[in-house]
Amino acid sequence: PYDMLVVGGGPAGAAAAIYAARKGIRTGLVAERFGGQVMDTVGIENFISVPYTEGPKLSAGLEQHVKEYGVDIITEQRAASIQRNQLLELELQSGATLASRSVVLATGARWRELGVPGEAEYRTKGVAYCPHCDGPFFKGKHVAVIGGGNSGIEAAIDLAGIVRHVTVLEFADTLRADEVLVRKARSMGNVDIITNAQTTAIVGDGKKVSGLHYTDRVSGESKALELAGVFVQIGLVPNTEFLRDSDVELNRMGEIEIDSRGATSLPGVFAAGDATTVPYKQIVISMGQGATAALGAFDYLIRSDIE
Ligand code: FAD
Repeated sequence: PYDMLVVGGGPAGAAAAIYAARKGIRTGLVAERFGGQVMDTVGIENFISVPYTEGPKLSAGLEQHVKEYGVDIITEQRAASIQRNQLLELELQSGATLASRSVVLATGARWRELGVPGEAEYRTKGVAYCPHCDGPFFKGKHVAVIGGGNSGIEAAIDLAGIVRHVTVLEFADTLRADEVLVRKARSMGNVDIITNAQTTAIVGDGKKVSGLHYTDRVSGESKALELAGVFVQIGLVPNTEFLRDSDVELNRMGEIEIDSRGATSLPGVFAAGDATTVPYKQIVISMGQGATAALGAFDYLIRSDIE
């Protein structure tokens, strides 16, 4: 068995694995894809002490740093469940089971989907989730951003510099984004914002997006917009479905409940990063949390007598 098994290979998982391996204990890391969300990121300007880097470069750095230690890395494997018998047992979707004395869960998060007709059908054919990645494909076109939180308004400001026009659709009657962002978006000549708008369908010609339908929640009227692209920016969902039937407690949003040492409700299981209740989902925060969870798990190990 491992002494510490890290689940996830993003910033949180990489940090946890490095902190664990540096204690000289048997450390494993299992991840579907090394790098996590960082792999989907273009410019990163808030990774402290590095004024500018890019996702793939930072991911390669994470992997290289973990590989400097004797960490047993298992990629392209998904965790399916976790339970405690004598040891902690992590079952993989492949059917294999990994045993460990402690576990750090760092499975991150993914984009939340709208769940309307046309969204899945036109994914990568006009429906996008990453403005940094896909914005340039819509140069000179009219696009919509669904969601008026920080990520939606940031996306609108970002896209406004590339595309012809951006329409933001927000379900609620007010925007949830920071005032400074809203002011900036409103000051741009090619951004308009529609509140009380419930997107009901994304439509197209079978090959690509041609628009969307929404209901005006005040008048009840159905409306249509002609568009080349739809950016869905309605938040992140934690990758914690595999924990639903476990003894690891999740909050209403599916985030793993942790204490200040990263401990979860299941003894020996710690967690870090975007998959947890941490309020701000960022690279530096995930790394700090990964270190905390590994140190918390190490503290647990030296106090426990499981051989
Ligand atoms: P993730 O990066 O999500 O990594 C999760 C890991 O777990 C992956 O290896 C994944 O494959 C694995 N995994 C998931 N489920 C399973 C499973 N069941 N079994 C096994 N493995 C699994 N933050 C910043 O600080 N600055 C930025 O500029 C910035 N820009 C961003 C831009 C975009 C487009 C996105 C999407 C995010 C951005 N973020 C940014 C946020 C940042 O990427 C995240 O906060 C950070 O990656 C979270 O790290 P994590 O390790 O918790 O999770």
